[in-house]
Amino acid sequence: MRNVLDIVQDADVYRSNVLNLQASENVISPNVRKALGSDFASRYSHMENGVNDYGGTRYAEELENTVSENAKKLFGFAYAETRMLSGHIAAMTVLAALVKRGESIIKVPESVGGYTGYSGAYLPRMMGFRSYDMPVGADGFIDYDALEKHVEYVKPKMIVLGQSIFVKSYDMKRIREICDRHSCLLGYDASHVMGLIAGKQFQKDIKEADVVFGSTHKTFFGPQGGIILTDSEKIFARIEDSITWRTMDNYNIARMAGVGVAIEEMIRYGEEYAKNVIRNAKALAEAMDGRIKIRYAPWYTESHQILVDGDWIRSKGYDYVRFSRVMEENGIIVDRIGRIGTAEITRMGIDNVEEIASMMVDAFNGIDVKDRVNKFVRNMKMRYYES
Ligand SMILES: *Cc1c(COP(=O)(O)O)cnc(C)c1O
Repeated sequence: MRNVLDIVQDADVYRSNVLNLQASENVISPNVRKALGSDFASRYSHMENGVNDYGGTRYAEELENTVSENAKKLFGFAYAETRMLSGHIAAMTVLAALVKRGESIIKVPESVGGYTGYSGAYLPRMMGFRSYDMPVGADGFIDYDALEKHVEYVKPKMIVLGQSIFVKSYDMKRIREICDRHSCLLGYDASHVMGLIAGKQFQKDIKEADVVFGSTHKTFFGPQGGIILTDSEKIFARIEDSITWRTMDNYNIARMAGVGVAIEEMIRYGEEYAKNVIRNAKALAEAMDGRIKIRYAPWYTESHQILVDGDWIRSKGYDYVRFSRVMEENGIIVDRIGRIGTAEITRMGIDNVEEIASMMVDAFNGIDVKDRVNKFVRNMKMRYYES
């Protein structure tokens, strides 16, 4: 067996030599890395009714306060919780706070990209609530009339929006009205699109939701973590009561410091970044489609994701796994469920995606593009941070 530090070193070198188009990932800036590797990494801080259970915490307390103030400023919500260890833990905390045992939620079906964690066998079974799929049309998008009937029948405590395969904003006004008429809460799992929402380029009416939560590391600039946002004092109080000794104990202060740096980067650069991410996604789809079929022509996407057409790729003797493997052999990293994401390449300075489309199409057609990918990657340079 090799030393762990050698593995870490190799992973760093490997990842800086491949082109990452994984929709769930991003790169962190050197400043976020610095925060992650700081002394905070092994410290504790627990504020409870104005008293800290630990000593030596003056900077941890200042940090927590600064990060949550900046999160409120960035997202425009009255309350922000930035201690969450991940998007999943943020979701679990929100559900623990707001949905009791025996109550129900309605969520987006997995078949159209809804998050697996909300399906029966996972969080619902563990936490004792019930979970129902919302009705979707043949196009894969919510059928709002059918949703209202479903809400009337199920009487859910919460509608949970948000998807892992996610190319289009919702009709929030419509869902808000349904929630108001049937007195249920509106939750929004923004894990995939947190950075696009921070940059005000996706789901611009996000404030219709009662509570927004999700990951800090997909389109957002952070290390892996989660965030919860709300305007309701009552909801926030219940969320705060569900954290310490319930869904978490330590919150990894260095991780939160990293998220804090990422929030500062987002305040400064988020709008420009998010615009470019979406522009790149549309342009990449346009450049690939016809040679590799992309779903939802001619608009393709409103987010950082474009979706390779599954039926088409199977008709060519591929599946998503083989597609991903062939790309990976050429130094291009995509996931194994057909998503292609433009968050990381945009952060890495790419404004013109023609060459990426061309390399992917060639790789798909069996041409070796390793050297081209290598040369392309060597010319990338990270932006949107204080260097
Ligand atoms: C990724 C994702 C999660 C889980 O987030 P983690 O940060 O990996 O825990 C939850 N919900 C949705 C919709 C996701 O896409």
